[in-house]
Amino acid sequence: MAKPVTAYQVLVRDVPVHRHFEISGPLASEWLAGLPMRDALGAPDGDPQAGGGVADLDFYDEGENIHATGTFKGFVTVACSRCVDPVRLDIDDKLQVTFMPAGKMPPDENDKAGEDDGEGAEVGADDLDVFPFDGERVDLEPLFREELVLAIPYAPLCREDCKGLCGQCGIDLNSGTCKCEAPIDPRLAPLKGLKLPS
Ligand SMILES: [Zn+2]
Ligand SMILES: [Zn+2]
Repeated sequence: MAKPVTAYQVLVRDVPVHRHFEISGPLASEWLAGLPMRDALGAPDGDPQAGGGVADLDFYDEGENIHATGTFKGFVTVACSRCVDPVRLDIDDKLQVTFMPAGKMPPDENDKAGEDDGEGAEVGADDLDVFPFDGERVDLEPLFREELVLAIPYAPLCREDCKGLCGQCGIDLNSGTCKCEAPIDPRLAPLKGLKLPS
């Protein structure tokens, strides 16, 4: 008889069911380890401030598929891409995902539609929220991990006008000033001191 192996698995035989899930800081820390904007913080392993979340989901079946709908609320803490200060990113998402038996996952949605790989092939929003499962239990961990990871923008900022760190002395220019001169592009160095007509 199938048993849930982790706290984030739901047995198909229990569906339909409502479930509440919590993701602790240390677990979020483990999931986010290795991402540059996390590692830049130099936080210890198991950092309780790394992130976390709560999910409330309703599961129901439709044929061989299991659907889950509900909410995910949480946060992740990453480094500002300019000054490396911690930035807390809040997550408040509605979830609507489908778990499909692994063998039934379409190898390529485009083939099914008989379209080229070109611009004509549209991937519906639903296609992005399909996860495989083994037929007996669905695993929410990949979904929750994705919720945390996708909340991180390419270049997180602590604030829109963050001044960042001085490239030479490293001082945080949001809270201090330094006397460093802006570095001169070596190609322009010979022009230094040249007065340009205004
Ligand atoms: Zn910053
Ligand atoms: Zn400086």
